[in-house]
Amino acid sequence: MNELRSGYVAIVGRPNVGKSTLLNRLIGEKISIVSRKAQTTRHRITGILTRPDAQFVFVDTPGFQTRHAGALNRAMNRGVTQALADVDVVVLVIEAGHFDAQDKAVLRLLPQDKPVVLAVNKVDQLKDKAALLPMLASLSPEFPFAAIVPVSAAKGTQTDDLLAEVRGHLPHGEILFGEDEITDRSERFLAAEFIREKLFRLLGDELPYASTVQIEKFEVDGALRRISAAIVVDRPAHKGIVIGKGGQTLKRIATEARQDMERLFDGKVFLEVFVQVKSGWSDDERLLKSLGYE
Ligand code: GDP
Ligand code: MG
Repeated sequence: MNELRSGYVAIVGRPNVGKSTLLNRLIGEKISIVSRKAQTTRHRITGILTRPDAQFVFVDTPGFQTRHAGALNRAMNRGVTQALADVDVVVLVIEAGHFDAQDKAVLRLLPQDKPVVLAVNKVDQLKDKAALLPMLASLSPEFPFAAIVPVSAAKGTQTDDLLAEVRGHLPHGEILFGEDEITDRSERFLAAEFIREKLFRLLGDELPYASTVQIEKFEVDGALRRISAAIVVDRPAHKGIVIGKGGQTLKRIATEARQDMERLFDGKVFLEVFVQVKSGWSDDERLLKSLGYE
């Protein structure tokens, strides 16, 4: 039996290398929300993967500024360096065949005293597979990497090997977050929750008590999500309350819910919210149909 390990992991790299895709792949389609009570860490936790032999707590780091020099950017980068000083393992993501000046700039910001695992992503895009080995070899003098792992976040190739490398560098110890502190919910569920929360906040006492939120469509396209949701109310009069004067209420619900989703899912969201009236009668009708009556 492997000894339990647990710790904080930061996934860093320049934009578009596939960090979000990788995180989603590693933690599965589930995302973990840590309750307020557990927010004792300075980090924003973006996901937790708990396995029988390890708990990986993935954290966000403020963006790296590698494009421009300048005092502000230097200060921001100091912030990054400090944030990274608190994690146990850093995963640096680069794109296979595209190691450039910006990646090098990121390298200079990495802590020297932490294990840095290099994930060479998008290997599925390589036309010449034979080029992979020499390319990996050419990367090792760039930094004292703890390991170099070629992966495809999109296809899930070798992402388990990446996790195994990360695990090997986590400290021994009990899990940091217990099941009671983490709610594991699907993004779909969370999307509905955000809309429900805005409904409550914006309508308060006016809220038709018989309203529910149904996610009609949830499509993931890289870092983009297309979500369509129905706020289902019982009576036509309730529809007007949710929509509000000139559509203002519904618009605010949708905008604020979308902003929350984009923050949590770390990607752009196209959100469509509409109001649907379903009376108790129509539900009965549906039930009858499902039982084979017309
Ligand atoms: P981030 O900015 O680093 O978070 O990158 P994203 O996760 O948003 O990915 C940027 C783009 O690269 C998206 O269009 C992804 O679909 C794509 N991508 C990510 N990982 C892979 C991969 O392993 N293979 C390929 N072909 N595309 C990928
Ligand atoms: Mg991203």
